[in-house]
Amino acid sequence: MSDLHNLSVKALATLLQNKEVSAVEVATRFLARMGGNPHNTFLDIDSEVTLAQAQASDAKLADGTAGPLEGVPVAHKDVFVTRDFATTAGSKILSGYRSPFDATVVQRLRTAGMVSLGKLNCDEFAMGSANENSAYGPVQNPWDTTRVPGGSSGGSAAAVAAGLAPAATGTDTGGSIRQPASFCGITGIKPTYGRASRYGMIAYASSLDQAGPMARSAEDCALLLSAMCGGDIDRDSTSLDMPSEDFTASLNSSIEGLRIGIPQEFFGEGLSADVRAAVDSALREYEKLGAKLVPISLPRTELSIPVYYIIAPAEASSNLSRFDGVKFGHRAKDYTDLVDMYKKTRAEGFGNEVKRRIMTGAYVLSHGYYDAYYLQAQKIRRMIADDFQNAFKECDVIAGPVAPTVAWKFGDNANDPVADYLADIFTLPASLAGLPGMSVPAGFGAQGMPVGLQLIGNYFKEAQLLNAAHRLQQATDFHLRKPEGI
Ligand code: GLN
Repeated sequence: MSDLHNLSVKALATLLQNKEVSAVEVATRFLARMGGNPHNTFLDIDSEVTLAQAQASDAKLADGTAGPLEGVPVAHKDVFVTRDFATTAGSKILSGYRSPFDATVVQRLRTAGMVSLGKLNCDEFAMGSANENSAYGPVQNPWDTTRVPGGSSGGSAAAVAAGLAPAATGTDTGGSIRQPASFCGITGIKPTYGRASRYGMIAYASSLDQAGPMARSAEDCALLLSAMCGGDIDRDSTSLDMPSEDFTASLNSSIEGLRIGIPQEFFGEGLSADVRAAVDSALREYEKLGAKLVPISLPRTELSIPVYYIIAPAEASSNLSRFDGVKFGHRAKDYTDLVDMYKKTRAEGFGNEVKRRIMTGAYVLSHGYYDAYYLQAQKIRRMIADDFQNAFKECDVIAGPVAPTVAWKFGDNANDPVADYLADIFTLPASLAGLPGMSVPAGFGAQGMPVGLQLIGNYFKEAQLLNAAHRLQQATDFHLRKPEGI
């Protein structure tokens, strides 16, 4: 089987269950593809660990105790802590760090049978939209290596697009699953805030951070999401105390009569014509499938940028205070006293964007500015969530672009962080509201680069989103297209 690396999670799982291929064979194939670290996607690999997991999976397949995804490989964003691989969150401050435990999401996917291929590159502490903020160098977009893969889960998206892993985990605080999925032509879903445990996910902005799967198709995402979700109250008090679902159960349901809300604010000035054309054609496809397009308004869309870039840095400035050279990773060498050690360690260990956010966060939380910035942002965040509830009175799901443009070229925004922030405009609103959102390949734009359609659902409506995405993928083949040579 020469094309194992192009098979879906579903197809691989079936072959493995039927013993037409072994987990060791599958793992060996992917490890061979990962050799030389194409596109700088991986930050840590260890073939012994991967093969040992594959052998254990083969034993389970042989004795009838296999999990539903037994032997199927997955790679994890380096924001999830892992016992068997190093964890850096893309930061120098965590170089050499190894966690004594696995994140809940990692552990659950292993329980379902998945074999870990290693850890994937990402923006430092998941702060970024282009993977240009990784301390270990940027990831290249497999569709055009002069372009960014998106961020912060850039390694996850590129690995799947390049056939280095059939699926990957990602995290999404303000778009980090959806936007790289869109830029690399794959499918990704961020579930409702609290659906998946944040235990062992290195915290960026705790009230926004969510884990989710990235894979070629909605069906594959549904398989992983079913295994990832479920309450974990004792270890993450913000996880929802509800069992996971079988998100594959309603993939094939009819979408006849589905009301798709089209927010006018997502289609205004700033949306590039090529992205608009691809999104429009996906919407036409939905009409053919019997869905109804309903104009809606999300009037505070623009405000989501300042609101997010106040709240996320505020939370980050607190979360990142734990990296002080005492317990984890890097410690500066020459220092005079404890405070000097903290200062030097943090000055050496954090990259520029992380420092910028810590400073912004500390500022908006400081006495005299708290009311003007942080408190105001919290109030508007509530209004943004209310706007969605108003919209959902008229529609079942909301559709629009994931990002205003296709993946940009390296360096285009490098000296202009605000340009990156502005490009998050369409993913931030659902994050601030805690709603599930996904990116589904919708076609190609400028220079043949992939374009994603964003679908946003109401709380706990992941199954409905995956159903809508799956129906589109049965009618189109954008999710099956691959970069040349893959
Ligand atoms: N681009 C956004 C940021 O830089 C979102 C990142 C994320 O979702 N982790 O904060």
